[in-house]
Amino acid sequence: MYDIIIIGAGPAGLTSALYALRANKKILLLEAKSYGGQILNASKIENYPGIEEISGFDFATNLMNQVKKLGAEIQYETVLRIEEDKTVVTTKNTYQGHAIIIATGVENRKLNLEKESFFVGKGISYCATCDGNFFKGKVVAVNGGGNTALEDALYLSSIASQVYLIHRREEFRGEDTYLEEIKKKENITLILNATISSLNGEDVLESITIQDKEKNETVLPIAGLFIAIGQVPNNEQFKNVVDLDSYGYIETVDGIHTKTKGIYVAGDARVKELRQLTTAVSDGSQAATMAIKEME
Ligand code: NAP
Repeated sequence: MYDIIIIGAGPAGLTSALYALRANKKILLLEAKSYGGQILNASKIENYPGIEEISGFDFATNLMNQVKKLGAEIQYETVLRIEEDKTVVTTKNTYQGHAIIIATGVENRKLNLEKESFFVGKGISYCATCDGNFFKGKVVAVNGGGNTALEDALYLSSIASQVYLIHRREEFRGEDTYLEEIKKKENITLILNATISSLNGEDVLESITIQDKEKNETVLPIAGLFIAIGQVPNNEQFKNVVDLDSYGYIETVDGIHTKTKGIYVAGDARVKELRQLTTAVSDGSQAATMAIKEME
């Protein structure tokens, strides 16, 4: 029997674990993939108060080590469902807790093109900082128009020989400061008002087909494609105990409590205005504190 079962080891889940462990609670941290969550995609974090600059990987690793030092129990298992009585069923085990904190974050949105999943690791990546080095001196493309895509294009411009930044509109959602920097880079080419209509290659990605607004198609030979078209939540498996909004984010009463007593949510998985590191760790600390208080 655990005091708190925390689902997800991104910044929100790890912060919940930190607070619960410091309050001497018995916790179980469940993670489906690897610790860190979306922050691993950040090459540089420059907006976390008190830390001038740190990589997403270093931030996540420091936080993980901090939690491990306090004796966190971590299992790498995918959660299939949770019950109202705080039973958590994973692909391998069934666990029981007094409280549950859902901190499952979001996952990368897919283009949903044929062979997209087949080419992952064979030319397609959703994380420039993780995989950029595999494309030293090669031609790559980034798809997207948000801050992630702009940052990825800049990051890759110092590794790849040529970077195409493909965006479906004329205007970018990302910040102007990044765009200004991009315009100064000789090896970044903008391809606007265009979408990717197919991914081509036998065993590895060899080229992509780009479609403009008039549906004219051009084949662009590239070695790597970095897809940075935003994130989507993955909360369907919790629908029996939480309410979801029309996008699939978890609804809360007050930002922390879900509709089920003893089940809390923290981080990007919930309905909120600002999905950032600062708000994720804030949620994590509040969810753990609330869970401990209400348990007692
Ligand atoms: P985002 O802001 O949601 O941008 C997603 C981009 O992908 C948009 O430009 C969107 O186009 C495009 N897109 C969506 N679906 C598409 C599709 N099916 N095909 C082609 N393009 C598609 O996502 P993000 O860039 O990952 O950023 C997520 C959040 O993290 C944002 O709040 C962002 O500010 C934040 N972030 C901050 C930093 C930083 O502060 N340094 C760094 C990275 C991310 P439209 O514009 O046409 O909708």
